[in-house]
Amino acid sequence: MTTPSFDEQAWQAVISRDKRADGEFVYAVRTTGVFCRPSCASRQPRRENVRFFALPAAAEHAGFRPCKRCHPHQAALSDPRVALAQRMADHLEAHSADGDATSLAALSQTFSYAAGYVQEVFKEIVGVTPHQYVEALRLRQFRHALKSHESVAEAVYHAGYGSVSRAYERASDRLGMTPAQYQKGGPMLDIRYTTADTPLGTLLVAVTERGVCAVGLYDDAQAALSALEREYPQAGLSRQDEALNAVLGDVLSAVMAGAAPAHDLAFDVQATAFQWKVWHALQQIPRGETRTYSQIAHAIGQPTAARAVATACASNHLAVLIPCHRVIGADGALRGYKWGTARKAALLAREAQTEPVAAG
Ligand SMILES: [Zn+2]
Repeated sequence: MTTPSFDEQAWQAVISRDKRADGEFVYAVRTTGVFCRPSCASRQPRRENVRFFALPAAAEHAGFRPCKRCHPHQAALSDPRVALAQRMADHLEAHSADGDATSLAALSQTFSYAAGYVQEVFKEIVGVTPHQYVEALRLRQFRHALKSHESVAEAVYHAGYGSVSRAYERASDRLGMTPAQYQKGGPMLDIRYTTADTPLGTLLVAVTERGVCAVGLYDDAQAALSALEREYPQAGLSRQDEALNAVLGDVLSAVMAGAAPAHDLAFDVQATAFQWKVWHALQQIPRGETRTYSQIAHAIGQPTAARAVATACASNHLAVLIPCHRVIGADGALRGYKWGTARKAALLAREAQTEPVAAG
């Protein structure tokens, strides 16, 4: 008999709406963007769309919103270290626009623990330092303010960046474009795309004039187009099957048979230096093999960054070309996949069985 993994136990608690598990963890649902306490009475999600987090702040950091029905924030946390991390996260959220109140020294003073301990507990439980947490909060607020059509200057103010230049410096590399471009939804971008039906779903390939900007697998062509529209809300999108035939063929054989692209495929994806580092490491994983998040963290020389590696994997735009599906949990669990865990399993199964095909 093997002991069920944390995820399995957590899932059992969710299925049985076990009140005793409230405060032990929260679960987040990818399709709705909402996270709940285990006992929430709302409709039960499908297992493959669920992620578990030790505390609400970690779920929020990953971009999920608290459920309005079960108020997962208000569940009493059973572990005192987890409770402390959550109180710190609440404090950071309340004061995110105030650089003085969010410093390590201020946290140490507010919660009466040594700065080193404050940092250690927060990092261990939330997965990032308090500083990184505040940066992510600000970026989220900034993004939200830009999308709600505030001027860039107002958005800068509301997100607590202090100055426009600092906002540009901080936000540009994460948004992948300048704030003004982001506000306009990337209007300068001309994106051409095509799709093909595969045994793994509808394959979408999209390119800019500089290179491939999106590759994904979806349930159907409509879902593929919707995903592309969400990613580039105001770019000009045009379907061009014939012009993209060669690129599509390349990507298709890479996805289905592991063939190296016959043409030199340039990528046009915006990313931080850290994301590039992770994605480059992913490209070194041989077909048919897998690595754990922590092995990738070691490979890039940042052994404690396993969670950040997972986040970078989740932000990959180029399915299979950057093989984030080859990274799995240390316990062998698949964890998540942007294009569906079932597809991750199917891709790995294919790769385990078939030899790669030489470029033609
Ligand atoms: Zn709920």
